[in-house]
Amino acid sequence: MVSLRGTLSIVCLLVFAEAVTANPVEVADGVYSYQGPTTYVSMFVVTDDGVMVIDPINSAHSEGLVAAIKSVTNQPIRYLVHTHNHWDHSGGGQVFKDEGATIIAHVDAYNWMKANPHPDLTVPDESWGGSRKDIMLGGKTLELHHFGASHGHGMTIPVLAGERVGYIADLVGPNRLPFFTLPDFTVRELERTLEGILTLDTEKIVFTHNARPDPLQGGTSQDVIDTLQYLRDLRAALEAEIASGTPARLAPDAVRLPKYESWAMYDQWLALNAWKIWLEGHLGPF
Ligand SMILES: [Zn+2]
Repeated sequence: MVSLRGTLSIVCLLVFAEAVTANPVEVADGVYSYQGPTTYVSMFVVTDDGVMVIDPINSAHSEGLVAAIKSVTNQPIRYLVHTHNHWDHSGGGQVFKDEGATIIAHVDAYNWMKANPHPDLTVPDESWGGSRKDIMLGGKTLELHHFGASHGHGMTIPVLAGERVGYIADLVGPNRLPFFTLPDFTVRELERTLEGILTLDTEKIVFTHNARPDPLQGGTSQDVIDTLQYLRDLRAALEAEIASGTPARLAPDAVRLPKYESWAMYDQWLALNAWKIWLEGHLGPF
């Protein structure tokens, strides 16, 4: 026979599990975050004239995302916005095309997508250029911001103006080291882009990657500030390591930043990030 205490803990466990896995979560009025099977988080905005979605990730994620949208509204899905070109974010577009959505990407991402086919990638219907485009739907304005090269091509920062909710793909992940080690990442430009993001009016930000216990709750511009500070601290630590006499070729592996030890991926990515900073300082940016 199950004891009262045992029953209570099972009930508590179920309530806890439900609280953590509730999907989607309404983070602001009509704005939802959704986490798919690969832990990536997307965002969607429900208006009186339809739904706007940010980042399809892949087909399995997109199918769950469409089901999540239909669980909260009968409005049609009108727009799918890509944050950037990378295949691990830009797959699944066909799922939204089948729903009648128009797919939009920054022209730099669009051109890359056309040139680099992938079985799960659908070339967007529309592209936009420059540093800003607004999508107006049902009395709401979704601002799309581009601050130049930083990570991949055409990196776009969407902000829903009235509700002041932003969305950031790979540039910042709360409680986690950023990863800026691939050839199409540039650290100086990432720094400039993060400074640009801090000029945007946001109260809440949903992040694709979020190492907090409940990633669907998103975070704030403080997470952007923290990542910017990490980047500056890492550059300073690398310079100090070399100034102390460590040969430059050994310095990236020798750097330690205890302040960030509690962040996810500290052991795995710190030296990789230090190498990227050192190489960019030595060879020049991408
Ligand atoms: Zn990416």
